[in-house]
Amino acid sequence: MLPFDVHEIRKDFPILLESVHGKPLIYFDNGASSQKPTRVIDRITHYYEHEHSNVHRGVHYLSFTATQAYEAARQAVARFIGSSTPQEIVFTKGTTDGINTVAYSFGETLKAGDEILITGMEHHSNIVPWQLLCERRGLILKVLPVLENGTLDLAKLDHLLSERTAIVSLVHVSNTLGTVNPVKEIIEKAHAVGAKVLLDAAQSIQHLPINVQALDCDFLVFSGHKVFAPTGIGVLYAKHALLESMPPYQGGGDMIERVTFEKTTYAPVPLKFEAGTPNISGAIALGEAFAFLESIDLPGAYEHEATLGKYLRLRMKEIPGVRFIGDAPETCSTLSFLVGNLHPSDLGTLLDQQGIAVRTGHHCTQPLMTQFQIPGTVRASLAFYNTLKEIDNFIHALERAIKLLA
Ligand code: PMP
Repeated sequence: MLPFDVHEIRKDFPILLESVHGKPLIYFDNGASSQKPTRVIDRITHYYEHEHSNVHRGVHYLSFTATQAYEAARQAVARFIGSSTPQEIVFTKGTTDGINTVAYSFGETLKAGDEILITGMEHHSNIVPWQLLCERRGLILKVLPVLENGTLDLAKLDHLLSERTAIVSLVHVSNTLGTVNPVKEIIEKAHAVGAKVLLDAAQSIQHLPINVQALDCDFLVFSGHKVFAPTGIGVLYAKHALLESMPPYQGGGDMIERVTFEKTTYAPVPLKFEAGTPNISGAIALGEAFAFLESIDLPGAYEHEATLGKYLRLRMKEIPGVRFIGDAPETCSTLSFLVGNLHPSDLGTLLDQQGIAVRTGHHCTQPLMTQFQIPGTVRASLAFYNTLKEIDNFIHALERAIKLLA
């Protein structure tokens, strides 16, 4: 395996050669969705040209081929996140779908008065499903606060955790603040009171090595599109015994063992949680994305990204009036900021005109915006295919935008 070389890796991502408004694209919106390497794109075409049929039910050649590729993808996911068995991997539509599955199915095993602990930096998809569950079953939602520097107020954790806590559901890396949360420590504390832990790995799966057994999390969810795979596919990892104990989320084909009008028995896990025809090509492409990551010098890629993240913060500090929203000691290469009293969307529009894609707004974390008393932020979120030169060009473009708006 060759050492990581950003200029070589960029050749794998055709979209990076695009021009936007006549300028070379600088894609700093990887937190919203990552771009796709050629081999992932080609894998989808190959599947539809040579392998497509419905999975699990057929006796014919193509159904067998599609099933094999789909189940091989499940094995690739299990290997990549360090699960001991593919039976612990449920294919979902994405992070949102994974959290809703847990909130519904695991939620069915809880009783009125049980508590759910989330944090003040959660994405809406890790807030609303729990609120719905609380309304449905009379549970109580508690929130671990966020400090001014964008870290969790861990001093309050012991106070908020109790034997009533059924589950702690938290983000591994904040999509808005870039904060990397000390999840191992939180998982240990939650387990000490008998609570389960769900990790929202939507933003960590692309940036950090993840091993579910080392973390000892009970559930972990992510979206394929954040980790170089297509949209519409995601993963719910759950410990085998938990999946066994939870009722199904949806009923239908594929998730059953036997159906009569009197009673239905369910397929073994994970199929019990995969009702209906799944996103077969998406799952296969997700497996291909992990095969791609395993074929490159991933530690070298993580290191390159860490260098980019530090360089971005350093260069941003040179710009007068810049305020970071969240400045935790441990962050990944995502940075939210404001400049003086300029509106984030004005800055975003002027950056776009210079070929630079950043995201502006509340990033689906409105409670965090309320806490910081801001309408939104500008967010630059990097991936390992970004370069130091792109950061220099971004700084230059930002300075130009500020001058224009001032
Ligand atoms: N959680 C976090 C931390 C996210 O960043 C996102 C996507 N922005 C989600 C959840 C939701 O992901 P999806 O829309 O792919 O379900």
